[in-house]
Amino acid sequence: MTSRLSRLAVALVATAGATLGVTVANPAPASAAMTICYNTSQAGSYAGTANQAASIWNNATVNLTLSANCGSNLRIYQITGGGSYAVRTSLGNGRVYIDTQQAAQYSPLRIMTHEIGHILGLPDNYNGNCAILMSGGSAGTGCTNPYPSTAEANRVSNLFAGTFSATDRSADIFRDSWPAALAPVS
Ligand SMILES: [Zn+2]
Repeated sequence: MTSRLSRLAVALVATAGATLGVTVANPAPASAAMTICYNTSQAGSYAGTANQAASIWNNATVNLTLSANCGSNLRIYQITGGGSYAVRTSLGNGRVYIDTQQAAQYSPLRIMTHEIGHILGLPDNYNGNCAILMSGGSAGTGCTNPYPSTAEANRVSNLFAGTFSATDRSADIFRDSWPAALAPVS
């Protein structure tokens, strides 16, 4: 009886020590940048384009890092017909679909960075300005600029700094029309 109690006491002490060790080894993390793991296993011929777009966003922003094939916050798909689009399930999470027919007409890299921009919290801004990434196809087939403007990049950085707005965090589907019809003047 004494021996069983002793063994129990030893086991309890060991458990307490292990728990304490875990606690010490894992202090509360600082406000770390979000890593967005993107998966290109379904991206077909656009896997390389996705990598280029990730580099563009990583270079232009802070507070987030797009990283290849470490998980599946963001899945990239190649589709044919129906138009490219993005499905944001929450900020930094979702799916991007690249339409081969559109990508044959417009810059595939601009389409890719634009659609990923939706996942990163940006809405469309169809103003026809090629310097604005989120103007998408409204800037015409001749526009191959794949870079977000400074304002667009800063907005993403701020979103990931935690200053979210309810709209930008929300789940949404962005069905892009390239070319997009210009918004009617009202
Ligand atoms: Zn769009």
